Amino acid sequence: MNYTAMPKVELHTHIEGAAPPDFIRGLAKEKSVDLSGIFEADGGYAYRDFWHFLEVYEAATSVLKSPSDYARLTRAVLENSADAGVVYLETFISPDFCGGRDVIAWRDYLAAIQDAAAEVERDRGIILRGIVTAVRHFGPDAAHEAARCAQETAGDFITGFGMGGDEKSGKQGDFAYAFDMAREAGLKLTTHAGEWNGPDEVRAALDDLKIERIGHGVRAIEDPALVNRLIEDDITLEVCPGSNVFLGVYPDLAAHPIAKLRDQGVKVTVSTDDPPFFRTDMVQEYENLSRQFGWDAADFKAVNLTATEAAFCDEATRDRVRKIVEAQDV
Ligand SMILES: [Zn+2]
Repeated sequence: MNYTAMPKVELHTHIEGAAPPDFIRGLAKEKSVDLSGIFEADGGYAYRDFWHFLEVYEAATSVLKSPSDYARLTRAVLENSADAGVVYLETFISPDFCGGRDVIAWRDYLAAIQDAAAEVERDRGIILRGIVTAVRHFGPDAAHEAARCAQETAGDFITGFGMGGDEKSGKQGDFAYAFDMAREAGLKLTTHAGEWNGPDEVRAALDDLKIERIGHGVRAIEDPALVNRLIEDDITLEVCPGSNVFLGVYPDLAAHPIAKLRDQGVKVTVSTDDPPFFRTDMVQEYENLSRQFGWDAADFKAVNLTATEAAFCDEATRDRVRKIVEAQDV
């Protein structure tokens, strides 16, 4: 099965983490920044282990410094996603990295990203929506400022609010106020949970933040009562299998619980998180899942319809995406 042409709905990416290595290399060259140490001979990002990966990530994204850099980044990311058959993409955008949580600067970054997205949508048909993200290890005060940026720009493009960063830092509940601000602004909510920490973290996300989707959430599998709750509360998981295996949450795809969660009735979707850093893309993810769990075109179509229903977009956009996914022959 050739999965490239299959229309895909992807809900969990980080815009900087999706930066193609060629794009970063070009930008570094223009700015006379020496990043040669972070690339392998094949042109991809180099890494020895998890800590080195974090260093490489930071170095690569350090050249993204202005709204026009982000406009170019958006174009490069969307072209790659469209090449992999993605028709609808959601990406986390951080006011921390885009203007230092200053609302006026944030608006400039966002306008540049949105213009670029509109251009690529015209050319390639791919639809982008943004989820404003707070960075957990920057603490609750910074999260309030990120939520303020989200409130000020909530609309057709910014449709969600979420939180990423170090899951070992602070508690989900410390950020309840920021999530309340975002909810009041009409934004849909998600948070990273159950990736590095276990089921308690997922439960805290549900209880304390009242989110509707969970980034990863896969470690919920360790607690059958929690699995039932995910089903009853109609929570969709943004599962990123390649990311989990690359970062060592699971030793290999065979040990990954995505198929078990789905078989038990949890709404799972498939995303790439930071694709070039994990040496993956959506086609690769589908091929791996197909090989490992025997998922076929009908399974992927069902997963894409689940993602369509869980997408943080207006109903007219959802209808457009649903039609594209439903039109796929299986
Ligand atoms: Zn993520």
